[in-house]
Amino acid sequence: MLLGLLLARAGVQVVVLEKHADFLRDFRGDTVHPSTLEIMHQLGLLESFLKLPHRRMHELRVRMGNTEVPVADFSHLPTKCRFLALMPQWDFLNFIATEARRYPTFALRMRTEATGLIEEAGTFVGVRAQGPDGPIEVRASLVVGANGRQSELREEAGLEIESLGAPMDVMWFRLSRLPDDRPQAMGTFDRGRILILLDRGEHWQVGYVIAKGSLEQIRGAGLDAFREAIAQLEPFARERLREIQSWEDVKLLTVRIDRLRQWYRPGLLFIGDAAHAMSPVGGVGINLAVQDAVAAANVVAEPIRQGRLTTGHLRRVQRRRELPTRMTQRLQILMQELIVRPTLGLRFERVRTPAVEGIRAEEERVPVAVE
Ligand SMILES: Cc1cc2nc3c(=O)[nH]c(=O)nc-3n(C[C@H](O)[C@H](O)[C@H](O)COP(=O)(O)OP(=O)(O)OC[C@H]3O[C@@H](n4cnc5c(N)ncnc54)[C@H](O)[C@@H]3O)c2cc1C
Repeated sequence: MLLGLLLARAGVQVVVLEKHADFLRDFRGDTVHPSTLEIMHQLGLLESFLKLPHRRMHELRVRMGNTEVPVADFSHLPTKCRFLALMPQWDFLNFIATEARRYPTFALRMRTEATGLIEEAGTFVGVRAQGPDGPIEVRASLVVGANGRQSELREEAGLEIESLGAPMDVMWFRLSRLPDDRPQAMGTFDRGRILILLDRGEHWQVGYVIAKGSLEQIRGAGLDAFREAIAQLEPFARERLREIQSWEDVKLLTVRIDRLRQWYRPGLLFIGDAAHAMSPVGGVGINLAVQDAVAAANVVAEPIRQGRLTTGHLRRVQRRRELPTRMTQRLQILMQELIVRPTLGLRFERVRTPAVEGIRAEEERVPVAVE
């Protein structure tokens, strides 16, 4: 969506396809980091963006046993906003879509699912899609796969996916928040368990981190055992855990970390989770996807307008984004292996990420927003 906005703003004709009828997806990527707020600032959108309901976090703290430790402090960043904004992803996406619609070159087609790529003479020239009124074809000088970590278009394009694994999944649910609730640590590591607690104003968003593959065992032990395990970590929530009335109230989100070896083919580029699925560790996934969009817009907008886009431009987008992606994934894997895995009592595995050396960051400084 952000790439659509940036390209439309640069005078490029854009069609964004979204398979769902809305952006209402709970428990996904609500942490808007200072880097993304900086981009909103550069686009002149920060003031109206911050009018949307959000919570500000100036630092992140976790509790390990009885000790509370700060893990992130945003107050020293050289950015306009020195805090993280917790904002529902649908508000963020609706905001960007509204801004993008101001440009006559932007079109958003909801309930339209890309079902296949159109390839002619070795170049991708569009997508086939299923819309509300039946099948359509959209032809374009560049197709961008920004359709998340389950993107099937990657296999169709013959791109190789490197899976880096993740030892855990997350069970998410909500608990009501009372006006006199004290601020809580964002994460609790204790008694062989990990709990994430996000203050969403009127409710707590709670993530219970479990060993991958242990869902059936946890369900088999029953809801009472589940509630008790959480109450032991957060006694203040004990009574409220009755709000979880059935497993329907608890959503499992599977975690995985992977990446494409090559993010592009002639006429086709993948960005965001489709190019590199991120773990929820650090809550950085949407912010990396946003940065990919900015880098891509900076590289491709002008060549598209002038009709001289080449595969070299797409290679440049990957080169620009690959180092931060690899470094972030490596950190996520290290945290998974050194903190999550031992806390959950899982066997230690060798950290499998290939080293980041050998990846060249581009020397040239690319402007961060498209003017
Ligand atoms: C449990 C969990 C918790 C997370 N928590 C956080 C967090 O707190 N903060 C954070 O920054 N990141 C978090 N992440 C990571 C974050 O969700 C992703 O990194 C981020 O959403 C990637 O953005 P994206 O735009 O690339 O893909 P997505 O957000 O997955 O968006 C892809 C879009 O494409 C649409 N789509 C898919 N296929 C098609 C198709 N064929 N045609 C048309 N449309 C299609 C989808 O409906 C979707 O709207 C979390 C991930 C997990 C698994």
